[in-house]
Amino acid sequence: MSYSKSIELLRDYVAIPSVNPMGRSDMPAAIAGETRLAEHLLEQLRGMGFDARCIGEGDRQSVVAEVTVSGAIDTLLFASHIDTVPIDGMEIDPFDPVVTGGRLQGRGSCDTKAGMAAFVAALEKTAANGSLRRNVVLLGEADEEFGGLGVDDSLAAFASTALDIDWVLASEPTNLQVVHAHKGVAVMRLETHGRACHASAPDDGENALVALARVITALDDHAADLALRSHPQLGPPTLSVGRAGGGTASNIVPDAAWLELDRRLVPGENAESIRRDIEGVLAAAGVDGVSISLCAAKAPLETPLDHAAVRSCIKALESAGLPPETTSVAFGTDAGPFAEAGLPGVVLGPGSIEQAHTSREFIETAQVDAATRLFEALLSGETPSE
Ligand SMILES: [Zn+2]
Repeated sequence: MSYSKSIELLRDYVAIPSVNPMGRSDMPAAIAGETRLAEHLLEQLRGMGFDARCIGEGDRQSVVAEVTVSGAIDTLLFASHIDTVPIDGMEIDPFDPVVTGGRLQGRGSCDTKAGMAAFVAALEKTAANGSLRRNVVLLGEADEEFGGLGVDDSLAAFASTALDIDWVLASEPTNLQVVHAHKGVAVMRLETHGRACHASAPDDGENALVALARVITALDDHAADLALRSHPQLGPPTLSVGRAGGGTASNIVPDAAWLELDRRLVPGENAESIRRDIEGVLAAAGVDGVSISLCAAKAPLETPLDHAAVRSCIKALESAGLPPETTSVAFGTDAGPFAEAGLPGVVLGPGSIEQAHTSREFIETAQVDAATRLFEALLSGETPSE
C-alpha cells in the first residue's frame, strides 16, 4: 500500500512516542517526553535542506526550523505541538499507526501530529518547486497539553534571533475551520491556615477546613456572578472547584486545608486579573489569610476577523477548494500565549477535536490530504485581497 507523503510522515510521527508526563512520576521513560520526536523532526527537516535546531532541556525538547525566501510576503510561525496526552485506557495500540477504512489511528494521530505532517509535506514541496512565498518559522513545541514549556522555550529563542514573525498558525484539530477566538484557563491553588489542637477542645484552635468551606461557598457565589461577563462568541467565563483536602486525623483540629480551581478566561482576562477577582471575593466574604498560587495558565485568543492571519487562511482555504469558514472553540491552544506575547494568530488544522484524547484516537486520511493542499496554497500564497 502506498500513501501520500503527509500520511507517510504521520505514520512515522505516531510511531514515535512523545507522551506528556503531565506532572506524573509513573510514566515509563520509553514513552515519556518529546525529545525523541523533536530529534526525528530535526533530522528530517535538515534532510530537506532547512536550518533546524532543538531547543529546551532533557527529554522535554522542542524543534525549530527557519526557512526564508527572497521577496517573501510575510513571516509565518507555524506551531504544532509534538506532545500527546497519556495512553491510559486506550483500546488500540497507541503507537501502531494502522491505516484502515480511510482512517489513521494512534495516539496523537488527530491531536496534533496530523497538522505537523501535512505542513512538513507542504513545506518540502513548495520549497522544492520554487512556489514558497512566505518565510516560515516551523515550531514543534513540547508540553502544550500541560505546562507550556515549549512556548516558553520558543519565546526565549525568538527573542535572541533576528526573526520578525508577522503571525501565527497554531495547528490543532479544527476540521480545517479558521479559529480566531477561544477561552483561556488558569488553574489556581488556594490554602487556608488555622491552628491545630486536640479535637476534644476545638475552641482552643482554628479550623482551616471550616475556613476552606467559607472560601468554597464564596467562590461558588462568585461563579454564578461570572455569567454577567458573557463574551458574545465564547459565552461566560467559568469557575469550578475541582479538588480539595486538608487535615491529618479526625481528632486533630486541622491547621491547613487547600483547594484547586479551574477558571476559564474570556478575552480581556488574565491570570493576574483573576487573582485580584478572587482576592476581592474573599475579602468581601470576610475570609482572610488565604494564600493563592497560580499552578498553570493559558491565555485566551481573540484575533479580529479582518486581521491578516485570518484573511491569509481564508484565502488559502478558497484556493484549495475548501469551505472558508471562521469559528470559535471551547478549548485552549498555544495561539493564546503567543498572542499574549505579541504574536497574533489563528488555530487551524485537520481532524476533529471529538477524536482528540480518546481511547481510539484517529484521523480521517482525507482531512490530512486536504490540510496538505491547504498548507501548499498558504505557503505559495497570494496576499489576502483588500
Ligand atoms: Zn492539541
